[in-house]
Amino acid sequence: MQETTSKLLIITAPSGAGKTSITRHLMKKFPQLAFSISAATREPRKHEQNGRDYYFISTEEFQTRIQDDAFVEWEMVYEGKYYGTLKSELQRIWQNAQIPVLDIDVKGAIHVQGLYPKQTLSVFIEPPSIEELKRRLESRGTETEDSLQARINKASYEISFKHSFHEVIMNDDLQKACARAEEIVAAFIAAP
Ligand code: 5GP
Repeated sequence: MQETTSKLLIITAPSGAGKTSITRHLMKKFPQLAFSISAATREPRKHEQNGRDYYFISTEEFQTRIQDDAFVEWEMVYEGKYYGTLKSELQRIWQNAQIPVLDIDVKGAIHVQGLYPKQTLSVFIEPPSIEELKRRLESRGTETEDSLQARINKASYEISFKHSFHEVIMNDDLQKACARAEEIVAAFIAAP
């Protein structure tokens, strides 16, 4: 499986920190990057598409894939909801001579960078505060009271791991955070 010379970019953050916006910005900017589509068992949100945002699969199918050793990593990110990076997805992107961009949770990110230590750049997006994170999640309107609370609880825990990553970008201003991410990623792409 291992493609030792192929690079890998991980963007990680608590839910609501602005990771998706920054990732999208990078994808637009750098044609060398390709989004690594994870498999997930949660319900698709309104504007999400299967095969673009996630491969939405059933819990049974996910468990079969685990048994088949199809994942680079997988986590039960939230109670009862599985998310995982498929080996086939990284291979597809590397074969295309592109760099996979993994938008994954902190635990998954630490796991993957341990698997590919030499070829990975990991970036942690830090929210300005837990209060701001809560406000952003509420205004997104995608969470129930319970799932919002679960995301907030997990966020404080995740922030405590920020020093495990190569770069930390504070997202108190999205434009500035995107510009900083762009600088970091341009250097990573250009490096031998
Ligand atoms: P959401 O439900 O908001 O799309 O994602 C919830 C969390 O799961 C986010 O932090 C996201 O980055 C993470 N996530 C998405 N795909 C994967 C994956 O393949 N593996 C892991 N470990 N986390 C993932």
